[in-house]
Amino acid sequence: MGIFSKFLSKIKIADSLNKADLDELTNELIAADLGADLAHSIIEQTRKLKSATSEESLEAVLLSHLSQKERTISIASGVTAVMVVGVNGTGKTTTVAKLARSFQSQGTVVLAAADTFRAAAVEQLQTWGQRIGVEVISGKENSDPASVAFDAIEKAQKLSAAFIFIDTAGRLHNKSDLMNELGKIKRVIEKVSPIAEVLLVIDATTGQNGLQQAKVFTEAVNVTGIILTKLDGSARGGIALAIESALDLPIKFIGTGESIEDLAQFDPTTYIKGLIS
Ligand code: GDP
Ligand code: GDP
Ligand code: MG
Repeated sequence: MGIFSKFLSKIKIADSLNKADLDELTNELIAADLGADLAHSIIEQTRKLKSATSEESLEAVLLSHLSQKERTISIASGVTAVMVVGVNGTGKTTTVAKLARSFQSQGTVVLAAADTFRAAAVEQLQTWGQRIGVEVISGKENSDPASVAFDAIEKAQKLSAAFIFIDTAGRLHNKSDLMNELGKIKRVIEKVSPIAEVLLVIDATTGQNGLQQAKVFTEAVNVTGIILTKLDGSARGGIALAIESALDLPIKFIGTGESIEDLAQFDPTTYIKGLIS
């Protein structure tokens, strides 16, 4: 049941809501990861709804909090270069593999294992690469991630690849380390090809904390879109709205499980309908 469904059914009976109802709704929205500011602003906007139009009006209010930006990957004339960034454990490496799977029907895909901090991260990507038949370029453990990215983009050009997806590290000591490392990877790729997208992976189960992390990344790199993972888990539904409202960045894909096919495009209308139905 969507987080707005009770609100809608009440308003259908009462024509407008009393203070106790509004307080209850506010608390439910906050519990559903919407955040206090957004919850209050949505309540304020929908307070005056009348039963006859309540469903459509609420839909319109909720849609107005989503980003208007393009939700598809912007395809380049040469190789489409996509950097995948985010905090450790959010699902970057898995998502890079899922993206490779999803785009390999459109042309050759190359993967760059530019999280060189842990050998395990490289092996994880190589295993996926073998399973789906996609080339993974890696370096030695602790080698320069920018150097791995450079080798990978060279390989992509040699193969006339359509896509390169670049996995990156998440465990960086502070924001300036993060900026340096991601900025350097970006500069090195851009010697050869423009970067089409920088996609930020956010774990939906971390709620408002994930939103906080997202703010740090968007200050460090020019993020063009979000991938919201683990929506199959106990995520409480409001986080997508909270992210888009706070960052004005479009969610482009969602992760719905641990297997390679568990990636879907984010559809705002379906999402909003889910919140109110
Ligand atoms: P990274 O540290 O950001 O590279 O994260 P990983 O790709 O290694 O993923 C961390 C864990 O989250 C792994 O156990 C993944 O299988 C799991 N994971 C990633 N995406 C999803 C998802 O959409 N749903 C679920 N349930 N698990 C996911
Ligand atoms: P800077 O260290 O911030 O000045 O960044 P650079 O542009 O020098 O590149 C950083 C790293 O990327 C280098 O240490 C190399 O490992 C790799 N790199 C950059 N350009 C090239 C190149 O033309 N060839 C190769 N093989 N590696 C490169
Ligand atoms: Mg990883």
